[in-house]
Amino acid sequence: MDLKTGLVGSGSTESRELDLVIAGGGPAALAAALYAARYDIDHIVLESYQPGGQAALTAVIENYPGIKTITGGDIVTAMKEQAESWGAVFEMASVLSAEPLKDGIQIKADSSTYMARNLIIATGAAPAKLGVPGEDKFYGRGVSYCATCDAPFFRDARVLVVGGGDSAVKEALHLSDFVSELVIVHRRDKFRAEPYLAHKLLSCGNCNVMWNTTLKEIKGDESVEGVILNTPEGEKEMKFDGIFMYVGRKPATEPFANLVELNDNGTVRTHNIVHTSRENVFAAGDVTDNDLRQIVTAVSDGARAASAVFDKLQ
Ligand code: NAP
Repeated sequence: MDLKTGLVGSGSTESRELDLVIAGGGPAALAAALYAARYDIDHIVLESYQPGGQAALTAVIENYPGIKTITGGDIVTAMKEQAESWGAVFEMASVLSAEPLKDGIQIKADSSTYMARNLIIATGAAPAKLGVPGEDKFYGRGVSYCATCDAPFFRDARVLVVGGGDSAVKEALHLSDFVSELVIVHRRDKFRAEPYLAHKLLSCGNCNVMWNTTLKEIKGDESVEGVILNTPEGEKEMKFDGIFMYVGRKPATEPFANLVELNDNGTVRTHNIVHTSRENVFAAGDVTDNDLRQIVTAVSDGARAASAVFDKLQ
């Protein structure tokens, strides 16, 4: 390696050697970046093309201690600016693969290849698909996974929300300010979402809940026109202009499948919160199997992971 430039190899394939690569751009990665910069660790953050991760797509955050209410976009922007003010280094890049080396990890991104002594996986999760007929066909033509992004397109429309967790209920509440009528279908008779959100939705004027109901099919010609639902009374056809899906998340762990142990659901298997099956690889935030998946726990994981790397480098 050329110690002056940090480059190894020749030709167009650039390869950099670093103490730490942080993969991801959400709250876990941003907290890890802040702590890594303050610990003066030689690092880079490989931020995906969706800066801020899923948090950036959340309409309102009301449970981050110390901040009464803030948009997801604003909180991740503030986190990134704070990390950069301490010297955190970001590069927009997708991680394609990560392979173990004798003394580190080789991380291939679409921009460069990195030889990292340590890696923090904080790549988060993407919305899960339901897998019903019409879901792919009408994606972007009535089917959406992001009310914060798409709600204004559904002003005075009739929309269906699928799911019963925090995301479904929270984003349904956001949508209810735009649409004329909103129906939320949940496969059970009780929301998984925190009670405060559930109560708020149940008292929302233009919202209706259909319990024990699942989405069977999305119908339409050029765009969504309606759905077939499986209800306790049998199949029911209803007209809607838009469908918002919130049926969980799929962890973004594919590039790390050869590096660390994953759980059956694809999350990174951790012990002591941020430690993985490989001693120089740490994981933080929604990509892990940790039970509480909140911004507050993601930033805590990020800080712990950077601190563990700092301890290892001493
Ligand atoms: P989630 O909590 O896993 O909820 C997914 C919902 O989709 C559940 O209600 C689930 O039903 C339903 N579901 C899953 N598969 C389904 C299927 N095949 N058909 C029909 N329904 C299906 O996911 P999330 O709401 O995206 O939240 C993920 C994590 O982020 C959670 O830990 C959550 O607390 C956190 N989060 C927090 C906030 C906040 O503001 N505090 C906001 C968003 C997310 P069941 O209930 O029957 O399993």
